[in-house]
Amino acid sequence: MLNETHDPALRSWVVGAQAPDTDFPIQNLPFGVARRRGDDAEPRVGVPIGDQMLDVVAALDAGFVGDRDTDAAVAAEACRGRTLNDLMALGARHWSALRLALSRLLREGSAAAAALDADPVLRRRLLVPLAEVEPMLPASVGDYTDFYASVHHATNVGALFRPDNPLLPNYKWIPIGYHGRASSLVPSGTPVQRPSGQTKKPDAAAPSVGPSRLLDYELEMGFFVGTGNAQGTAIPIAEAESHIFGLCLVNDWSARDLQAWEYQPLGPFLAKSFLTTLSPWVVTLEALAPFRVPAYERPAGDPAPLPYLEQAGDGGIAATLEVWLRTARMRAADAPAVRLSRGSFADMYWTIGQMLAHHASNGCNMRPGDLLASGTVSGASPEARGCLLEITRRGADPIQLPDGESRTFLEDGDEVTLRGWCERAGARRIGFGDCAGTVVG
Ligand code: MN
Repeated sequence: MLNETHDPALRSWVVGAQAPDTDFPIQNLPFGVARRRGDDAEPRVGVPIGDQMLDVVAALDAGFVGDRDTDAAVAAEACRGRTLNDLMALGARHWSALRLALSRLLREGSAAAAALDADPVLRRRLLVPLAEVEPMLPASVGDYTDFYASVHHATNVGALFRPDNPLLPNYKWIPIGYHGRASSLVPSGTPVQRPSGQTKKPDAAAPSVGPSRLLDYELEMGFFVGTGNAQGTAIPIAEAESHIFGLCLVNDWSARDLQAWEYQPLGPFLAKSFLTTLSPWVVTLEALAPFRVPAYERPAGDPAPLPYLEQAGDGGIAATLEVWLRTARMRAADAPAVRLSRGSFADMYWTIGQMLAHHASNGCNMRPGDLLASGTVSGASPEARGCLLEITRRGADPIQLPDGESRTFLEDGDEVTLRGWCERAGARRIGFGDCAGTVVG
């Protein structure tokens, strides 16, 4: 549902929020956690606005969020910790009230704008340049689950291993997923240490141990559970979205050589668990309301979702997602990054609501701050393949880069940046901010 916070005509007194290409206009207002660089400053809950970050608790303490005990003030009070978990646990009514209060605070002509004009010290307490903060993980993630929700990705990858039978028979009935590793989630910018592990060449008699040679990225969207469910109860599909706080970009770094040897019969393990990168700002579902679209249209002949997965309304999200690569040689030559792919999150076979409802359908309790990720976002066209395994067909078709280099998988010094944004006529463009990591040997 759209409300006054989505009005494309809204302008902020934070000048950078008007830049046409900013990810963070006043219509976005995502939440994250960051601390000022260069000192031992405490992590603070922040909301990026243009090229600045609003300190939510500083705004509350300055009296700009509303009277005590209002939903907005209670929600801002929950931001005193070092994570978003307490805010996530409050639920959609409180998230929405805080968003509205922050939108009004940041609008041109607000009382806060006048007060801060007259008080530069207070202004510096409330607003920090984004260039001066170090983003951290937005939440303490108790559990992390990774899905496999792109039928294009599943088909492309399946075809590499089973050319005659790429898609397994369960795929169109059940959102496939596996339990990931929460401890190795890191914020954007964290170096990506190349993992070592067991690999076995097809013609070798025994495996060997060493650094992965087939290191890959996976372009994914993640979503955070807000309010949870009691163990033994399900989350009905009609209520699933009200349990979702918001979305961020996820890079599920993957060692394909480790994966090929270890994955049967229980699925991914050490090939994935070494590190997963998140973009630091969580874009709320409410901010994404103008960009909701019908769920992916299943081709004729595909089964309809079973009743517990049958979702009314627009289950899809029209977000454009890109992968950019900058090698060490490109950095040394001051050459720009090159785009490797562009796809849309609207092309996913399963929606975020279906993934969450399915996850809880056996009575599994979800908790505030749990992270679910979509799986690699790939589309029907070759330009929309969200990992190198698909783009290079497991190394058979190397990518030629503009400077003469080529790639089958990632090399040391390669920087991979995921970008995502939503845009349509009649709405203000909003973005997710970068999700970046550089491979180190
Ligand atoms: Mn994945």
